[in-house]
Amino acid sequence: MTPFEYRRATTVAEAVTWLRDEPEAKLLAGGQSLLGAMKLGLAAPPLLIDLGGIEALRALRDEGSSLWIGALCTHATVVASPLVRECLPGLACLAAGIADQQVRNRGTLGGSLANADPAACWQAGVLACGATLLTDRRAISADDFFQGLFSTALEPDELLLGAHFPLGVQLSYLKFEQPASRFALAGAAVARSESEVRVALTGLGHGVFRWQEAEAALSRRFEPEMLAGLRPDANRASSDLHASADYRLHLAGVLTRRALINMRQTS
Ligand SMILES: Cc1cc2nc3c(=O)[nH]c(=O)nc-3n(C[C@H](O)[C@H](O)[C@H](O)COP(=O)(O)OP(=O)(O)OC[C@H]3O[C@@H](n4cnc5c(N)ncnc54)[C@H](O)[C@@H]3O)c2cc1C
Repeated sequence: MTPFEYRRATTVAEAVTWLRDEPEAKLLAGGQSLLGAMKLGLAAPPLLIDLGGIEALRALRDEGSSLWIGALCTHATVVASPLVRECLPGLACLAAGIADQQVRNRGTLGGSLANADPAACWQAGVLACGATLLTDRRAISADDFFQGLFSTALEPDELLLGAHFPLGVQLSYLKFEQPASRFALAGAAVARSESEVRVALTGLGHGVFRWQEAEAALSRRFEPEMLAGLRPDANRASSDLHASADYRLHLAGVLTRRALINMRQTS
């Protein structure tokens, strides 16, 4: 591994200042993606800024109209949180299905969202719920945050503080797992509030996106039959050694239907 400097920030301002001073620096959260990339030589930041000393980023609280989950909350924290289980149980289920216990103990919401892996689970839940992401300088809606493969609206020196999830939303997320990693070969999140139905798909190959045709159909009637004959846009899917684009598109439809059925059974 290329030598690098390590610093542990204790405030957001400190981390952002260091990031501005060294444009090639990287923030370190749980390290589950970044450290692997560094070991493989895919990333070689001269400076690692550890966020682990910024306690404020671990907050998880009910803010009246939204549930706030700080960027440093681990997947395991979300799974175990009585508040999440009460307010948005679908989110606890989503987090429980991520990887294995070790990754869940270290990996964070903020790291996962900033990384924007096209097969990650959080992205689908955040987009389907219509969450708002807060950074050190602005609020970004989930609709504007995700910009494709490993790409987000974050500026290179911008730090994600966490996400506001609107309350009164029901969420159901299902994925078909790549068996070695448990990343999604395809995953579907269906969210329903009083005002709208949102469907977000992950794992198809080009980054998370909303399946608007399914949303429109389910807004007319929230029944599995409404998805009959619908298929996501083929340009949104790609093939790799794990699955063909065609198979992923098929799975996306099946998973959306099952997620909807699950939601109806539990509500
Ligand atoms: C074996 C394995 C299996 C996995 N399976 C799944 C799965 O099934 N589903 C799933 O969703 N995920 C999966 N993951 C991903 C994992 O859940 C982590 O969430 C993810 O790797 C990144 O989170 P992290 O906290 O470790 O971030 P890090 O690796 O520390 O950072 C990732 C990137 O985000 C940036 N970053 C971190 N925090 C911030 C912040 N607050 N603001 C701005 N930028 C920031 C870093 O600079 C870096 O570029 C898996 C990972 C592994 C290793």
